[in-house]
Amino acid sequence: MRTVSSGAEELSASERREALKEVLAQARGCLRCAELAATRKTVVFGAGNADADLMFVGEAPGASEDEQGLPFVGRAGQLLNTLLQEIGLARDDVFICNTLKCRPPGNRDPLPVEISNCQEYLLRQVELIQPTVICTLGNFSTKLLRGEPTGITRLHGQPEVLVLGRRAVRLYPIYHPAAALYTPRMLQTLREDFARLPELLALGAPEQPPEAPEPVEEIEVEQAPAPAQPAQRQPEVDQLGLF
Ligand code: URA
Repeated sequence: MRTVSSGAEELSASERREALKEVLAQARGCLRCAELAATRKTVVFGAGNADADLMFVGEAPGASEDEQGLPFVGRAGQLLNTLLQEIGLARDDVFICNTLKCRPPGNRDPLPVEISNCQEYLLRQVELIQPTVICTLGNFSTKLLRGEPTGITRLHGQPEVLVLGRRAVRLYPIYHPAAALYTPRMLQTLREDFARLPELLALGAPEQPPEAPEPVEEIEVEQAPAPAQPAQRQPEVDQLGLF
């Protein structure tokens, strides 16, 4: 059992990046979800700027992401890249990750137990990257970070200030790009919601809570040896250089 303590407030950006690499190393060895650990090719931790103001949180890696070890590299990812370009941002300007770090087999929906098992990695990412705006893509990340089940159809495009761990952030739920791929009306709405991101970022960080309300729970990750790699598995890509 290994523990990563919280308390990122006092760390410099480079110290936070180093700490993020440690969390990545832990996630790579994670065996909390037996099925996902047995079927994944890679752990898709996230990529981008480890000191980004803007963080995107999707659902879970798909087949292309699992192959490449990178988030949002399939068709939904191409749309995300386009939407970013339209507001003058590149992937390197932001941090992109998912609610689940491993691909659910057959792209099924994440199970509640998997979301629960994985949420500490996401909370550590938030704590260490310290974004001012977190853009949740679709229902899973929105419901997880808001802590209640209101769906994206009601919430999209409405920013709110939320305290996550010790930090207040601006949460901005929008439709998942995959949902907009085949529905022109949803794509239009997604574009309109995306267009508001620059003004939200310009607001800067929301007022921070005077006292730490609650420390982020400590991660306790099983440090069991990595499971035997089936022959068809590919080596993990070097994600350490990606943020
Ligand atoms: N959909 C997601 O939610 N995440 C990805 O990384 C790719 C597709």
